[in-house]
Parts: sequence; structure tokens; C-alpha cells
Amino acid sequence: MPAKATPLQNIIRRLETVSGRPKPPITTDPFELILWENVAYLANDDERARAFSALRERIGTKPGCISAASGEELLAVTRQGRGFASQCAEKLRRADQIALRLFKGNLKKSLQLPYLQARKAFQEFPGIGEPGAEKILLFSSAQPVFALESNGLRVLRRLGFGGERKIYIATYRAVQAAVINQIVPKCGWLIRAHQLLRQHGQEVCKTNRPRCEACCLNSDCRFYQSQGTSRERPSGSRTGVSTLRSTSAE
Ligand code: SF4
Repeated sequence: MPAKATPLQNIIRRLETVSGRPKPPITTDPFELILWENVAYLANDDERARAFSALRERIGTKPGCISAASGEELLAVTRQGRGFASQCAEKLRRADQIALRLFKGNLKKSLQLPYLQARKAFQEFPGIGEPGAEKILLFSSAQPVFALESNGLRVLRRLGFGGERKIYIATYRAVQAAVINQIVPKCGWLIRAHQLLRQHGQEVCKTNRPRCEACCLNSDCRFYQSQGTSRERPSGSRTGVSTLRSTSAE
């Protein structure tokens, strides 16, 4: 008999029912994932994708390609992002040098290291902290780790998982710890969960003015319920989520 779905699994299923199956990541190559993070700063997905495509087409994304490019060629790429073109160009150059010097141009080999060692290795790159390194390990299907970015983290925290801490990384770890027994420990599921939570955070559970009344998770959201019980609410959530929190979330 199949095991009963956990509250987190119910959340992911509900998001997928509403939003559809998310697109796969733009790349699964670890060095490309690092370049993706650094090619633009504070850019939206379209701007970042434009800059990344320009990098792939005009310069190349293998270790060594960026070091061989001229400053002008690199700036022409990073100007496709929102701004900070010279800082982004500098970070791309630094990433390339690290890939050549510390990884001998072969990042895939580092994916096979034990988990903590691999995570630490990828944190050598600019713009890659612990969550970014975990995302690389997940998206390249090397480790079934529940990597989250800031939007997905906000969604889970508001739903009631983990709670907020003073610093970001402590909140990140608290949320991860709260759901660790509720995941499906397979890279495919974890990647979809990452993408669906991110999209929900960007489009519905925004930092300011989350669209709670329209949210398919509102019937079980701690944040929503804490906003006052006197407000008139729809009779049940719009999409009819039943109780997600069948076991304790924390
Ligand atoms: S009900 Fe509001 S706070 Fe809760 S997950 Fe939905 S949008 Fe976010």
C-alpha cells in the first residue's frame, strides 16, 4: 500500500495541480549553473536568460572560454542583464579562473565528492553560498538535497515550517530541518518542488502584499490565519486544499 502523502508532498502536489509541471532547469551542468548566477545581478528571469544565452553563443560556457574573451566581448554579454555589467563581467572572469585553477576545468568530478565536501567546493565560486551550492548539487542530480531559493523559502516559512531566524542562513536551515522527513528523496521530485515553490513565491506569495485570498494553500497557512480571524474568508480555499498539516510541520 502506498505511504500516506506528507503535508509537504500535499503542498507540492497542489501547486503542481494549479501551475502545471514546471519547466526543467535551463542547465544541469555545474559550471553553467555558476555562470547563470553570475551573468546578471538583480535581474528578472528573462533578463538573466538573455545574458546567459549571449554568453553561451558569443563566448562559450566551458572553463577557459571566459578567460580567452576580451573585456569588451564580456561586457557586451553582461550588459544584457539589468545593470552592474562590469561587476558581473569581473565575477564571470573570477569564476572561470577558479574553475581552471582549483578544479582543473572539470567540475563534474567534484559532484562525486562526499556531500559536505562537494558543497564546500562549490562555495569557492563568487555568488555561491550554501543554498547556491546545494542547488548545483540538486540540479545536476548529484545529491537529493532539498535546495531552496529565497522565494520558496518564504512560502514554506509563512506556511509554518521552521520559523524565522535573525539571519538568512539560519532560517534556511530551520526550514530545511522542518521538512526533511517530508520530502521525496529523489532529485526529480526535489527539482520540481524547488521550481514550484519559487514560482509560487514570485507570483502569489510575494514579499510584499502576498495574494493570500487567491492562494491555493491558504486554508493551511499559518501566516494567513495569523492575519486575523474577523476578516471574511471564502468558504474553504479556492482550490479546495484539505488539511495539509496532517502531521506536525515542525
Ligand atoms: S496564504 Fe498567503 S502567505 Fe500563505 S502561502 Fe499563500 S500567499 Fe503565502
